[in-house]
Amino acid sequence: MASATESDCIFCRIASGEMGTELIAESDQHVAFRDLSPQAPVHVLIVPRQHYASLRDVGPDDAGVLADALLLASRVAGEQGLYDGGYRVITNDGPDAGQTVHHLHFHVLGGKELRAGLG
Ligand code: 5GP
Ligand code: ZN
Repeated sequence: MASATESDCIFCRIASGEMGTELIAESDQHVAFRDLSPQAPVHVLIVPRQHYASLRDVGPDDAGVLADALLLASRVAGEQGLYDGGYRVITNDGPDAGQTVHHLHFHVLGGKELRAGLG
């Protein structure tokens, strides 16, 4: 479900500034910061300020948040120098996808040749 923030959610706490995590970019609806455990030379997370547990919780009334997320992902990729080599944007929803943080986020990965395939 969507809610403003959840006090026991690590990404709500990062987005609110409570954790002191360095933000590398922001938009009206999202913050961007580096993944704690990077899987590529550039590994940035795009995280909505509002809490959604995962992609399935974004309904048609909130569709704008998805546009904002992808636009920020693209902007961050450009700012991180990824337009030449290319980059990947993914979200994990649920256990088969390996979702570990239950606050919607998009991974922006690049800076090396990424493993081919989607699973
Ligand atoms: P998921 O597997 O849910 O798609 O991705 C969660 C990501 O969040 C993982 O790549 C993990 O390394 C990252 N992560 C988890 N906790 C923190 C944190 O406290 N700070 C940062 N910067 N990244 C985190
Ligand atoms: Zn949250």
